[in-house]
Amino acid sequence: MKTAILGGGLSGLTLARLLKEKGQDVIVLEAEQEYGGLCRSKTDRGFTFDIGGSHIIFSRDTEVLDFMRRIIAGNEQRNNRNTKIFYKHQFVKYPFENGLSDLPPEDRFFCINGFIKNLIAVEKGEVHAPLNFREWIYYTFGEGIAECYMVPYNEKIWKFPTDRMSHHWVDGRIPRPPVEDIIRSAIGIDTEGYSHQAVFSYPLDGGIEALVRAIAQPIEKFIRTGFIVTAIKKSGDQWQISNGNEVILADQCICTMPVQHLVVCLKGVPPAVKNAIAALKYNSLVCVNIGIRGPVPPLSWLYVPDPLLGKTNRISFPSGYSRHVAPEGCSAILAEITHRPHDEVSGMTDTELIDEVVEMLQDMHLLTKDQIVYSSIERQPFAYVVYDLEYLKNIAIVKEYFNGLGIPLVGRFAQFEYLNMDGCIRSVMDFVAPVQPE
Ligand SMILES: Cc1cc2nc3c(=O)[nH]c(=O)nc-3n(C[C@H](O)[C@H](O)[C@H](O)COP(=O)(O)OP(=O)(O)OC[C@H]3O[C@@H](n4cnc5c(N)ncnc54)[C@H](O)[C@@H]3O)c2cc1C
Repeated sequence: MKTAILGGGLSGLTLARLLKEKGQDVIVLEAEQEYGGLCRSKTDRGFTFDIGGSHIIFSRDTEVLDFMRRIIAGNEQRNNRNTKIFYKHQFVKYPFENGLSDLPPEDRFFCINGFIKNLIAVEKGEVHAPLNFREWIYYTFGEGIAECYMVPYNEKIWKFPTDRMSHHWVDGRIPRPPVEDIIRSAIGIDTEGYSHQAVFSYPLDGGIEALVRAIAQPIEKFIRTGFIVTAIKKSGDQWQISNGNEVILADQCICTMPVQHLVVCLKGVPPAVKNAIAALKYNSLVCVNIGIRGPVPPLSWLYVPDPLLGKTNRISFPSGYSRHVAPEGCSAILAEITHRPHDEVSGMTDTELIDEVVEMLQDMHLLTKDQIVYSSIERQPFAYVVYDLEYLKNIAIVKEYFNGLGIPLVGRFAQFEYLNMDGCIRSVMDFVAPVQPE
């Protein structure tokens, strides 16, 4: 059995490794010159930055977490998460609902009052079940937490109105806080939220790419980089996969690249399927990487909900994840700006983006301009799946079609789901589990 895997990001590489372990012949076809997709990292003048935004290794899925930690064994730094929200020029503990005592008193009252009033209304059955993400936020947290943080932050990262987003994906991902925790956090008793992420790992050397490199190591000679898949055809029992110059033959063809790239490779796709794919929404990402002389606060990352502070939605401090990702005496700052494809941000030059982020970091007292020794920009067209209200209908059409065609979809933009690295590896493990060893 020869399997062609379209896309050499984390999903494609893990799939190749696990199928190879079952005795299959594999070939990974990757468009870029380097494999790794969103999990690549770049080292330049002593600074290592993840180019698809700041990544950490964590999971509730113990099998997957063990797999990732085993893969980077000997190259791992364990860290305690220290994450904050930058709110009215103060650091508020993350998650917001666990940091209420850090708020100005009026806002603290607004949040706790809103939470309790809403809880009573929900228990009395006075509030209808949420129909969209915005309603889910109010239903879960009450108006104070919704209006101070949840709505502004979510509208900043998703670049989409929360009342036009689905809420099917949030249960489990954004946990409902117990009322006791809300009261404790408001009066200043320490509580932890998202405890599965309270301790996380990061490679000591090489950035997050060290994880995908280690996964790829046993199958490296089966990876073809610089191979942009442009046409796919079934002929008899075989798939013919082409980049316009060369045709690869395979018995099985698995897609881990975005469905938007897959559909244009195929002839005869029904208009309903094309329309469903065209309607799927996603965000792109700009990463602004800054290296400075001197220290940064001992924070893992910082959420920035305030639109007046600029376009950045999250700032991370990778030199805290690994002591090897910045030169001695220097620190690294990575600002993430999500944006819609082809919007105003896509048209901004690197200098404009760096200037905007530096102004914001100065405003936040995180640096002064004379400390800056390094800056660069990375852009990712596919960063986040956006779950609009039409999503479930559209993705069902897409999955049914590719299922019928015999091209399995595995990975973040192939399945078109908000999967983190652990979710991608879980999908791969589930895909490979029924495969009989050859
Ligand atoms: C800002 C940000 C922060 C994140 N932080 C975390 C984190 O802290 N922890 C975590 O677990 N996860 C995190 N993630 C999620 C993680 O990056 C993804 O889950 C994972 O990288 C997805 O891997 P993938 O292989 O499915 O997709 P991708 O990495 O997108 O790989 C798809 C591959 O297909 C290739 N391709 C596309 N078109 C073609 C073509 N025509 N021919 C051939 N190849 C093609 C692409 O070049 C790419 O290499 C984060 C994501 C973002 C955007």
